[in-house]
Amino acid sequence: MIVSEQKLLIRFFKLGSLLALAASIHILTLLLPWYAVRADTVSRTLLSGYLLTETLVLSVSGGVLAGVSLLATSFSSKTGTVRTVLATLSILGGVLALISPLYLSTVILPRLNVSGDPDLGFFASLFSAIILMALGFAVLLTRPQRVEQPYPQYVETEQSYVSPPPEETSLERVENVEDAVCPICYTQVTAENAVRCSSCGVVFHSGCAEAYVNINGTCPNCGRTVV
Ligand SMILES: [Zn+2]
Ligand SMILES: [Zn+2]
Repeated sequence: MIVSEQKLLIRFFKLGSLLALAASIHILTLLLPWYAVRADTVSRTLLSGYLLTETLVLSVSGGVLAGVSLLATSFSSKTGTVRTVLATLSILGGVLALISPLYLSTVILPRLNVSGDPDLGFFASLFSAIILMALGFAVLLTRPQRVEQPYPQYVETEQSYVSPPPEETSLERVENVEDAVCPICYTQVTAENAVRCSSCGVVFHSGCAEAYVNINGTCPNCGRTVV
């Protein structure tokens, strides 16, 4: 039995909250200067992430994907589904978020034929994207731990069930009966209708004993199984 199922959901919830935080930080990095583009030898232009359509779309969609991953898991309380949804959305979002600054430095800037230096926003967006992916993999690796529970109650119960098998006895006819009273009906037993338990030796009317044995299968006096 997996007893840490509840703990697992709590851990997913914590990771999901961190994901939402990292995702919003990643989107906020769009406001920071990503590149200091050299226009000429003297002047520089600061290029923020939100100014370019590609980085804006990539970062926002990546951040939103990872950010809503926890919300997306709310329809299910199964840990397997929660893990899959949370991990998929955050890794996918992380990849999109990571592509954003890399696409800027390797495709857009060379195409614009400008040079510059990456600025704070560039590193912040790169870093937050890596955090998103790392959290996604952390979700993927969060597995339930099978906890071996001692079952003291179960053991006790089992032991109480294991009682020695009841001894067997038989009812035999009695030829000589002296002053015997049937313990079932409390009347005198005579030689014609007497049986005796071979274990405890108590004498019954054969009819009384048969009626009892038919129902219970045991001697009315000592409780041993009648065969
Ligand atoms: Zn009797
Ligand atoms: Zn008996």
